[in-house]
Amino acid sequence: MNIIIIGSGIAGVSFAEKLRTLSADDDITLLTKEHYGYYSRPMLSRGFSRGDIEQTIIIESFDDLRKQNIRVFESATVTEVDRLTQTVHVQGIKDIATLAYDYLIIATGSAAFIPPPFRSYRDNFYLFNSLHDLIELRQLQQSIVNEKKRVTEWAIIGGGLIGCELASDLAVAGDRVSLFHAEDRLMERQLVAEDSLKLLAVMQSHSIDVTFKQAIQAIEKAGEKTRIMTEDGHFEFDVVIVACGFKPRTELAEQAGLETRRGIVVNQFLQTSDKNIFALGDVAELPGNKLYAYVLPIRNQALWLASYLSGQQSECWQVPNFKAVAKVHGFAADHPYVF
Ligand SMILES: Cc1cc2nc3c(=O)[nH]c(=O)nc-3n(C[C@H](O)[C@H](O)[C@H](O)COP(=O)(O)OP(=O)(O)OC[C@H]3O[C@@H](n4cnc5c(N)ncnc54)[C@H](O)[C@@H]3O)c2cc1C
Repeated sequence: MNIIIIGSGIAGVSFAEKLRTLSADDDITLLTKEHYGYYSRPMLSRGFSRGDIEQTIIIESFDDLRKQNIRVFESATVTEVDRLTQTVHVQGIKDIATLAYDYLIIATGSAAFIPPPFRSYRDNFYLFNSLHDLIELRQLQQSIVNEKKRVTEWAIIGGGLIGCELASDLAVAGDRVSLFHAEDRLMERQLVAEDSLKLLAVMQSHSIDVTFKQAIQAIEKAGEKTRIMTEDGHFEFDVVIVACGFKPRTELAEQAGLETRRGIVVNQFLQTSDKNIFALGDVAELPGNKLYAYVLPIRNQALWLASYLSGQQSECWQVPNFKAVAKVHGFAADHPYVF
C-alpha cells in the first residue's frame, strides 16, 4: 500500500511510526510544511521561562523518521487533493509536483482562531500556535531587552487554556502581562467556577493584571506600541497576542469536496466521506460534533488507525479517559475536567 500522511504533528508522526512497526512493506510518505522537526506543541507554553526551549522542544528530527524508512518531505505544502486520480499536489519539493496514494491521512492540525471583529487588525497582533510563532515572539522580546533595556509589556487577549498558560509563562520569565478575557471567569470551558477563582488568585500572585468582560473594540498601532481600545478606555503594550482558541485546518478537505463542519467529518473509524481518506488529530470532527484537541486522545487515535489499516484491529476507535490539565505555573485544579 502507498500511504501519504499530511502533517508532522503528534497525529501524523505517531501514525507513521506505528504503521511502520506493524507493516514493513507499505510505502509511507509524510509531507509537512515544518522544517524544525517533530516538536511538542504543549511545550510551547514553557517557551519563555525555559532558555533552552529550541533544543528541548524537538522530540525527533526528520532524519530520525527517515531512519525508520518513512519518506519525509519537509518545507512541503500540500495545495490540493485530487480524489479522482488519488493524488496530492505539493509545493516545495524539487522536481515533484504530485504524489499518488492508496490511502491519504489528513493530520493537518489546527490554526489559531481569530474572532471576526479582530480580523481587520491582523497586522497589529501576534498569534501563539507553533514553534515559528514562539521563535518570532522571543526575538521581539530580546530586541526590547537589547534596545530599550527593559522587560516587555504584553497583552494577551483570551483567558482560555492557551491564554492563561502563556500569560503565566511570560510573567514567570519576568515580563509584565495584562490579560483581557471576554467572559467573567478564567478557563470557563475547562474549569468549574471554584477552580477558575483559584486560577485567578495564582495568576494575580504572578502580578498578571486580569480584566474580565472586556469587549475589545480595536487593536491599533500607536508609534512603537500597540493600543487596545475597550469600553473602559485604551491601553498600550509592546506586543498584543490574540489567544482565542483554535480552528481546524479544513481547507484541503473543503477543496476536495469532503464533508466538513467545524472539522473534517469522520466516522468512528476516522474515515472521511471518501473511503480512501482518513483524518485524525485537531482537524478531525467525530460523531456528535466532537473534536479531541489534546495529545492523549490524538496519540491514541494515531495508534488505533495504524492498527486498523494494517488489519490488526477491527473495532472502532473509542475515546480514552483523559483530563485537561492547565500548565499554569503554581496551579493545579481541584476538580479537573475528565473527558
Ligand atoms: C500552546 C499550546 C499548548 C498546548 N498544551 C497542551 C497540553 O498541555 N496538553 C494537551 O493535551 N494538548 C495541548 N495542546 C494541544 C495539542 O498540542 C494539539 O491538540 C496537538 O498538538 C494537535 O496535534 P495534530 O498532530 O493534530 O496537529 P498539529 O500539531 O497542528 O500538526 C499539524 C501539522 O500539519 C502541517 N500542515 C498543515 N497543513 C499542511 C499542508 N497543507 N501541507 C503540509 N503540511 C501541513 C503543519 O505544519 C503541522 O506539522 C496545546 C496546544 C498549544 C498551541
